[in-house]
Amino acid sequence: MASTPDFQAGSSIKAFSSIASTLDFQTGLKILEDITTNVAQVQHQVLDEILKRNANTEYLCRFLNGHSDKELFKQKVPVVEYEDISPSTDRIANGEPSNILLDEPISEFLLSSGTSGGKRKLMPSTAKYMDMKFVSTQLVNLVMIKHAEGLTQGKWMNFYFMKPDFETPSGLTATTFMSSLIKIIQQKYPQNKIYTSPDDIIRCLDSNQSMYCQLLCGLIQRDNVVTTGAAFASTFLVVINFLEDHWKELCSNIRTGHLSDWITDPGCRDSVKLIMSEPNLELANLIEQVCSAKSWEGIVKKLWPRTKYIGAIVTGSMAQYIPTLNFYSGGLPLVSLVYGSSECFFGINLNPLCQPSDISYTILPNMAYFEFIPVDTSNGAVCTGKENIVDLANVKVGQFYEIVSTTNTGIYRYRVGDIVKVTGFYNNAPQVQVVGRQSVALSVDIDKTTEKNLSKAVMQAQLHLEQLGFLLIDFTSYANTSSIPGHYVLYWELMMKESTSDVGELNSEMIEQCCSIIEESLDATYKIVRKENSAGPLEIRVGNRGTFDALMEFFIAGGSSLSQYKTPRCIKSEEAIKLLDSRVVGRYFSPKTPHLLPDEI
Ligand code: AMP
Repeated sequence: MASTPDFQAGSSIKAFSSIASTLDFQTGLKILEDITTNVAQVQHQVLDEILKRNANTEYLCRFLNGHSDKELFKQKVPVVEYEDISPSTDRIANGEPSNILLDEPISEFLLSSGTSGGKRKLMPSTAKYMDMKFVSTQLVNLVMIKHAEGLTQGKWMNFYFMKPDFETPSGLTATTFMSSLIKIIQQKYPQNKIYTSPDDIIRCLDSNQSMYCQLLCGLIQRDNVVTTGAAFASTFLVVINFLEDHWKELCSNIRTGHLSDWITDPGCRDSVKLIMSEPNLELANLIEQVCSAKSWEGIVKKLWPRTKYIGAIVTGSMAQYIPTLNFYSGGLPLVSLVYGSSECFFGINLNPLCQPSDISYTILPNMAYFEFIPVDTSNGAVCTGKENIVDLANVKVGQFYEIVSTTNTGIYRYRVGDIVKVTGFYNNAPQVQVVGRQSVALSVDIDKTTEKNLSKAVMQAQLHLEQLGFLLIDFTSYANTSSIPGHYVLYWELMMKESTSDVGELNSEMIEQCCSIIEESLDATYKIVRKENSAGPLEIRVGNRGTFDALMEFFIAGGSSLSQYKTPRCIKSEEAIKLLDSRVVGRYFSPKTPHLLPDEI
């Protein structure tokens, strides 16, 4: 393995943690070169440090008896999922000391959107690790500045939203990764003038007020905006959708210089005053003219003509939004820079202006100790035998893997649940394409509904139907993202208990009630995105008799084996969707947003 002669893993890792407040271009890029060149050494050092520091924690002691040997760690410490670690995180959340899991104090919990038994996952975090994640995002900015000229000569219109924190019984804060990161950015760079929106607008917890004011500030400063985006593609499209609903009001505010009265958040009002100091008739007319066009194709480029790219994650489950983003963007590059999660930061896209289909993330070997379980793609099964796990330095190009991470935040050999494909190397650091989540069937935003959860929810509605004399013959689904926000569509075929003939005209209230039951039975993340209007009302399309026979014939004609045929619970084929749609006799939508139960955070 190539190695820079003067490299010392420790010094670069240390430097990585300490450049947070004084990040300069050359240092940042030099560190990136170092850690990606010396992958094996960095990984060795990262694991060594984690084990030495945490050997005496209750969790590791259980398997290692106080030892910190790497080989022993691999033999004895099990590869786990959230269910295996949640008893420990729950104990800490309920007041027991952090050293059940780690030597350092836990500073806060991060709420992962992945769910477990209807609850969002609580991932421990420490001040030091948040600093490292912050530095990673700074490096990302450096990479971008290197690739897009003039980025520092204008304003960044990034749509960020914070969610309310809550306190665990032990007094620790539980917050989302994004909220936590925004707090750090605002702490390190208070009132940073690079962003179009002042800090208080981003801090506003009412997402409607915040979105409105972020758009207003962005429109007023349109001539200066050099980049725009949001964390995920779906979020950016929700903002565009909101703009469609509110552009007249926004123009009226710009024309009169008076902010709408429904914006009551004092931080938002004061901040807008700083940006909108006087009426601007000319700007209001111009925006009105652009927005009144019959088609909104290319609207982003028309409203913000200096924008160089849209920054948003468009890989994995977000890839479905690329066509819609392309429609609105007017040919701007879609830049997907980071790959990370609440539990761990994985990597950076070092070739940010590439086509979305070519996006790979270079794994940063200093962020955690990474292992990879090979995934056999021929039947989608994951080989979980520990003997198959390989180190980061030993992955093979072209192979699919599930990532397992060991962090310095008390997570040991944790299956993140993402499947990635290794596409190459940057220096010696593997680059991966995010293929998707293990077993996720439907997703329109940060929600991740598994087949199992979907089936469980449909069963609840089935019980209701049966009481009314109907049987559900079969069902399937797809995530409809052609509308904004996207929504879940379920195809149903029904039969009356008394008769095998077509069900005829259905009572719409009955099926709408089923939509509601399903939504109520889905997990907390789904309900949260529904509540925030990042997912639209769930829809049931009822097909005529024989719909699912026709679907089966379709798949069999395409090569499926009849003896192995199972109705897919989630459909991706456009042709299959067309076929199903051609048989639809009624469409029904959920009439209300689902309730979050008290124990669903
Ligand atoms: P969370 O646990 O809520 O922090 O969400 C983390 C998950 O979001 C990851 O495990 C991935 O499934 C997904 N994710 C994050 N970044 C990306 C990316 N760049 N491309 C695709 N999926 C991503």
